[in-house]
Amino acid sequence: MIKLKSLEEIELIRQSAQLVSRTLGIISKKVVAGATGLELDRLAEEFIRDNGGKPGFKGLYGFPNTLCISPNNVVVHGIPNDIPFEQGDVISIDCGVLMDGFYGDHAYTFEIGEVSPDKKKLLKITKESLYLGISKFVYGNKVGDISYAIQHHNTISGYGIVRDLVGHGLGRKLHEEPQVPNYGKRGYGKKLLNGMVLAIEPMINLGGFQVFMGKDNSTIYTIDGSISAHFEHNVALVNNKPLLLSTFDFIYEELGIVSNEEDPYKVMANI
Ligand code: MG
Ligand code: MG
Repeated sequence: MIKLKSLEEIELIRQSAQLVSRTLGIISKKVVAGATGLELDRLAEEFIRDNGGKPGFKGLYGFPNTLCISPNNVVVHGIPNDIPFEQGDVISIDCGVLMDGFYGDHAYTFEIGEVSPDKKKLLKITKESLYLGISKFVYGNKVGDISYAIQHHNTISGYGIVRDLVGHGLGRKLHEEPQVPNYGKRGYGKKLLNGMVLAIEPMINLGGFQVFMGKDNSTIYTIDGSISAHFEHNVALVNNKPLLLSTFDFIYEELGIVSNEEDPYKVMANI
């Protein structure tokens, strides 16, 4: 069953999502060659607890840490370790927060130093597809409209669209209905209604779409060893339009990136 949220509940989810955004912001300058996932994980946990939240992933489904750190051919759900990042790596970092009974959950893929043009393009297209998906999260559309927008943008670049993992509803639980696949048909699936809150999260591979789970029962790898990218935002449907609850602005501020990609989805109109 899809749980529609009140504006008060959406605000609480926004607070949790914003704490995730700030957490990704404070670690973003430390996602460099020589740093390790465990170092970032400690920083993130401390920051979240200092700011009144709890790590949202820790202990959930047996996951042991605050951050999912997924380098290169790891798609998602990587467990932080002490292997230093290297120049040219791409590192997806996913973070969750539970605060005042509601979850925030979003992710960004970072570049370590200069990455190759094919990796750069994968990250660009994956992130673009996230915003294209968000743009379809409007009243009257169906979940399939979001899915198709993401799929289409990546398919034309020849990328593999992960099918075994999907976006989801978000609220008092980290994973609520509906599922939001990154592939699908326009006009199909559940109807998009005001009060829905979604985590939209394309997971896109430079090679084929097939993935497998590692022996740790968590880490998801590409079968062909190809590089994978992952960007995730939390979005509410308010007054028939998508309202962004999370932001990459804190990351961009730290890294000196100028972007207006979020502008159309930032304003809570007519409330
Ligand atoms: Mg996530
Ligand atoms: Mg998620």
